[in-house]
Amino acid sequence: MAESLYIHIPFCNRICTYCDFNKVLINNQPVDGYLDALISELRDIEPQSLRTIFVGGGTPTALSESQLSRLLAAVTDRFQVTEEFTFEANPDELTPGKLDVLKNYGVNRISLGVQTFNEDLLNVLGRSHGYNDIFNAINHMEKIGLNNYSLDLMYNLPGETMQDLDDSLKHIRTLSPKHISWYSLIIEPHTVFYNQIRKGRMKVDDDDVEARKYQRVINGLSELGYPQYEISNFSQPAFESEHNKTYWKNEPYYGAGAGSHGYIDNTRYYNIKPINHYIQSMEETGSVVKETLALDQKAQMEEEMFLGLRMNRGVDTARFEEKFGRSMDEVYGTVINQEISKGHIEASKSRVALTEKGRMVGNTVFMEFLL
Ligand code: SF4
Repeated sequence: MAESLYIHIPFCNRICTYCDFNKVLINNQPVDGYLDALISELRDIEPQSLRTIFVGGGTPTALSESQLSRLLAAVTDRFQVTEEFTFEANPDELTPGKLDVLKNYGVNRISLGVQTFNEDLLNVLGRSHGYNDIFNAINHMEKIGLNNYSLDLMYNLPGETMQDLDDSLKHIRTLSPKHISWYSLIIEPHTVFYNQIRKGRMKVDDDDVEARKYQRVINGLSELGYPQYEISNFSQPAFESEHNKTYWKNEPYYGAGAGSHGYIDNTRYYNIKPINHYIQSMEETGSVVKETLALDQKAQMEEEMFLGLRMNRGVDTARFEEKFGRSMDEVYGTVINQEISKGHIEASKSRVALTEKGRMVGNTVFMEFLL
């Protein structure tokens, strides 16, 4: 039914100042109880071969070596990964011992939460790792031959300069990771950053500066051999994130863990978020409390466009027609022509994609595809 699985580990050793993910501080949490519930939830999914698995969080590497072994033994007992098995990791937690566990269970890709190479900015972000931890983690990975890793970075940070971006680009040139995710910082409600901005204690860049930084990221990475393939993602040839492409291609996937979501049979499901409720629901009823949302054809077509347009290659017109029994031209011809005239979209017979100008205002363009 699906070829991809996302697994959520909602624990962190420290809470970052900008984070609104579903996570808690790991101290005094029922981590083993959580793993019991998670492993039970995974047993509800048919054993099968999967193209991709992504273990994210929170921080999966906040687990101990024995907890990682237990989780991965259960996962690999049930699923064979044929293509990409990614684990998110924080640099200070990626010890040689934990890396050995990951490698032994077939993890073949690491998504390393670097965020920035500037030590002061790492402190502002409240990250648990420092500058040196980044290089130690990469050394450990390279020593055991786990060379397929992504650096996860952010720009538009409070106090960040263009020079900081250039420094990150220099490090990328030297390290030569296979993949880069480089997201603009979004100030989310209920975060420390949000409150500091509200109280006037912190400022972020205005839209013009943010746009110039985005352009620097795109151009800088392109010069280093990392063409952009999605709004915030760049890779060396043949190292695009296959798991994330499942989402952008609007394909089905399973989700397991507190607050995770999945997409099966045109229905989105959202697991209950609080960890104790998640564990309790599994213990008491043998299944996870979740909300479901069945998508009608209109919603499916909208999502096909929103998600697909995030990728530089855009949305495949033949696939659209095969999926929905209607041509893209019939459903979206007027909007596409309107966005072409604004310079936001380019269309060929086989694909519709954002232009460089369109990517700068992606969210505005996506809204036009609401039916
Ligand atoms: S490590 Fe990741 S999930 Fe945990 S608080 Fe920081 S940003 Fe959030």
